[in-house]
Amino acid sequence: MSNNNKPHKKENKILLSLLVLVLIIAISVVALIFLLKKDSNKEDNTLAYTDLIKEISYGNVEKIEMTVGSTTLKVKMKNDEVQKTAIVPNTEAFIGLVQQKVAEGNEIELVQKPKNVIAQIPSILFSMFPTLIMLALFIMIFKMQGLGEKGKVYEETERKTKVTFKDVAGLEEEKAELIEIVDFLKKPEKYAKMGAKIPKGVLLYGKPGTGKTLIAKAIAGEANVPFISMSGSEFIEMFAGLGASRVRKLFEKARKLSPCIVFIDEIDAIGSRRTSNSGAETENNQTLNQLLVEMDGFSSEETIIVLAATNRPEMLDKALLRPGRFDRQITIPTPDLRGRLEILKIHSEDKNLSDEVNLESIAEDTAGFTGAELANILNESAIIATKNKHEQIENSDLDDAVKKVTVGLEKHSRVISEKDKKLTAYHEAGHAVVSKYLPTQTDVKEVSIIPRGVAGGYTMYKTNEDKFYISKTEMQEKLIALLGGRAAEKIALDDISTGASNDIEVATQIARDMVTKYGMSDNLGPIALKDEKDPYKMRLFGEEMEDAIGKEVKQLIDTAYNDAQTILKQNIDKLDKIAQALLKKEKINENEFKSFFEE
Ligand code: ADP
Ligand code: ZN
Repeated sequence: MSNNNKPHKKENKILLSLLVLVLIIAISVVALIFLLKKDSNKEDNTLAYTDLIKEISYGNVEKIEMTVGSTTLKVKMKNDEVQKTAIVPNTEAFIGLVQQKVAEGNEIELVQKPKNVIAQIPSILFSMFPTLIMLALFIMIFKMQGLGEKGKVYEETERKTKVTFKDVAGLEEEKAELIEIVDFLKKPEKYAKMGAKIPKGVLLYGKPGTGKTLIAKAIAGEANVPFISMSGSEFIEMFAGLGASRVRKLFEKARKLSPCIVFIDEIDAIGSRRTSNSGAETENNQTLNQLLVEMDGFSSEETIIVLAATNRPEMLDKALLRPGRFDRQITIPTPDLRGRLEILKIHSEDKNLSDEVNLESIAEDTAGFTGAELANILNESAIIATKNKHEQIENSDLDDAVKKVTVGLEKHSRVISEKDKKLTAYHEAGHAVVSKYLPTQTDVKEVSIIPRGVAGGYTMYKTNEDKFYISKTEMQEKLIALLGGRAAEKIALDDISTGASNDIEVATQIARDMVTKYGMSDNLGPIALKDEKDPYKMRLFGEEMEDAIGKEVKQLIDTAYNDAQTILKQNIDKLDKIAQALLKKEKINENEFKSFFEE
């Protein structure tokens, strides 16, 4: 029988376990002694700054750990097991110095840790250290014995994703374009035979939450190949070659798993233009260079396709876009009406929706929302329905979820003085009445003085269906509507409040964009004065231009504020009535609002 040698194996196992136990105890004892020793030696472990610099120059330092915002460092010497601490007078200058040494060939690993991560380990944890080590070892041994060779297989299949194109709603054209990549991954030989070069990189442009990661995963899922991912922001906090070595490791892994997909999220974090050579940027350059080296170095047998995502294509270094690198670029837009409906459908599959729920109307109300936001709305609606003790998710739960995601949660419990209530009522009524008289502005959907999120009240408008261009008139009227709140406070209460601060901020931004980005100022003409790629562009025009821009922006805002006041003065009866209604009912819906204008 094949079971013959089992008892023998068992004996071996017991012996092995015993051995491991002895080993664990030995390690724990050593660890304990080490910890005690470390504690008692504390005073000797500080290094004066001048000595630190000397040791660095002599090449005796192996590793330096810093925490952002702290001037205390941990220093590990090449010939010493114990870490020393040192205090630097100026961290930035120090980083620069170390980087210079590294550039000169000195081998120092400089690690920057974000705040809190290496916060003091509580002393209980410290004294439990040996026990923890033991536990960890036990777990490791169990895993090794239990899984055997299966362990490795598990690790690789783990990276495979079950996401397919079915899970990606809308984006039909984008999927059609990417299906080609799936075919490359499935049958690389077919293309090789024909002499076709397989694309190496595809850049996905789009706002966060539009489904870039999802679609990259779906490609891997469709082709049934592993999906390896990393985010560009993971490199930001690292210094001195660590970013580059991470890239190297990532691609090492990819080569082993080929054919596969490598996904780099937020590639702008490492792939932004190589410009100045201040500290962090030198590091970014190294990381970026490594990425370029890796992409140039794929051999023809390796089918690795790199997908990268960014929201700021204009920031990317042109070298990334050269042939043989990311030579394909696909824009992932925010979903249109149909796309939104499909996304809502996909994400409601596992939700307990009542039959009365009308997803079409939710889709209509959410122009400009991303897939992630829509998924979030459905999830919130389920939470709200549970809180409301509803059997199923109802329309009202979904409406609440939309508001929660856009304005924040209603806060009925907040105590508001009568004076504040009156102010909010006139402020919101002001927005609503003013927009009613502005042809380009959409209809008012709801006005409320119940605090939500950070807002004391809100005026909700119906959304505009997926427009591509916005006219100057529309922007001007938007300014008037935004300033309608402040204008109403002034007219009705003869005082103004801080409640309008957000309106003012938004209005100022729009006015600035009108002048500097869209060339809508008659006096300055169609010149792009603002340039994300080049913050110094304005210098081209000199200081006079800066003054002129300021004047134009002010002019736009002043005009809008005056127009808002004029509209409200002419319709002061409506303003009063609506504000009073708000004070009584706290909330007015679309039809109630319209009824005020129907006499
Ligand atoms: P990005 O990478 O563009 O920031 P993600 O792919 O991470 O966005 O999207 C976040 C989540 O939003 C997804 O996991 C998914 O639940 C949802 N989502 C976004 N777009 C879509 C879509 N087109 N279809 C279905 N779900 C989507
Ligand atoms: Zn307002």
